[in-house]
Amino acid sequence: MSCRVRCASPIRVEDELPSDSGVVVKVGGSLLRSPSSYFEVARRIKALLERRGGGVIVVSAMKGVTDLLLSAARGSKGALDEVRRRYGDAAYEVGGAGLRTLILKRLGIVERLLGGSRCITPSTVDAVLSVGEVVSKEILLQALRGSGVEAEGVDSLEVVRTDGRFGNASILYDETKRLLESKVKPLVSSGVAVVMEGFIGTSVSGYVTTLGRGGSDYTAVSVAALLKLPEVRIVTDVPGIMSADPSIVAGARRVKELSLSEVHEASVYGAKRLHPRTFYPVSLHPLVKVFVGEWDSGTRIDARVKPSGRVKLVTHRKFGSFHYVAVVGEGMRKEEVIKEVVEASAERGFSIKGLYSSPHKPSVVFSVSPENLKEAVRSIHSRIIEVLGDED
Ligand code: ASP
Ligand code: MG
Repeated sequence: MSCRVRCASPIRVEDELPSDSGVVVKVGGSLLRSPSSYFEVARRIKALLERRGGGVIVVSAMKGVTDLLLSAARGSKGALDEVRRRYGDAAYEVGGAGLRTLILKRLGIVERLLGGSRCITPSTVDAVLSVGEVVSKEILLQALRGSGVEAEGVDSLEVVRTDGRFGNASILYDETKRLLESKVKPLVSSGVAVVMEGFIGTSVSGYVTTLGRGGSDYTAVSVAALLKLPEVRIVTDVPGIMSADPSIVAGARRVKELSLSEVHEASVYGAKRLHPRTFYPVSLHPLVKVFVGEWDSGTRIDARVKPSGRVKLVTHRKFGSFHYVAVVGEGMRKEEVIKEVVEASAERGFSIKGLYSSPHKPSVVFSVSPENLKEAVRSIHSRIIEVLGDED
């Protein structure tokens, strides 16, 4: 297979990579903040594909756009104007007035979906939200082509089949695999960069559905697992999955690697706002390695990671009026962790509302009231993670 990135001296990669080579790169909204970010992302993708051969680029909406579209669906006129302004500017930067006109025309569908209907149904909300990703894909595609990458767009609405649950759909693997194999695989095998939207798919009965907030990561991992591609890079603006929320713990550090059950537990309890189903598809192709972090480094998630017996991270999530704090690490000594939690609460003066630990889950979970959250997370990090934690 030859590298189809149009570079001055094309590199041949056939000798270096196994036959199922190919990478899925997921570009998060956190990287798409300004008009110029599409070119910056295209430059990084070009460099990555020159080393890896073909690949699939799964793209999210620009930073903040999904929230704005939600507000628009709830009746805010200003929100839709803001989406037009952001995408209009990005399109102009990437492809001049022509692309800007095209993108604004595409955005016109939001107005048509919302206009006139007195009752906004979940199906309309999903159709509105999907436009954020569709338009972002169009702009990235042009930025890649403008950077000399041979790129093709594939519509996720055509190749990702879902169970039809609006706002929180699951991907139907068999049908999606068949579609990806016929429409995406041949392109990837010939070294083309395929650009598709994350977060969206079509139900069996033909409705646009979204996969739940943060669902682009789930799309990316599903595409890799279903096409048996060996590597997924979830690229974001933080170094990786962190040992605690860095906005609470200044000394939080990147977790080097997580097993599937660790990352599942971490996602359920809010780590990096990962969608809880993101890593389910790995069980379909346990050889896939997923990196979450920057372009060339990050936390590795791999079905082959063995329990280290260390505590990996502390994470938290709000359910109702309580915050749940989870200490995660497969094989960690739970009695020791529980003792530290209880001691921390006595020493730092926060009360624990409940303490949970299942023999089948790699976590110790407790709940605290909102005013105690930061203190609880900080003290757990310093007493447990910094002492019993993993070294990166
Ligand atoms: N744009 C969607 C969201 O904000 C999906 C994603 O970014 O993963 O939730
Ligand atoms: Mg995300």
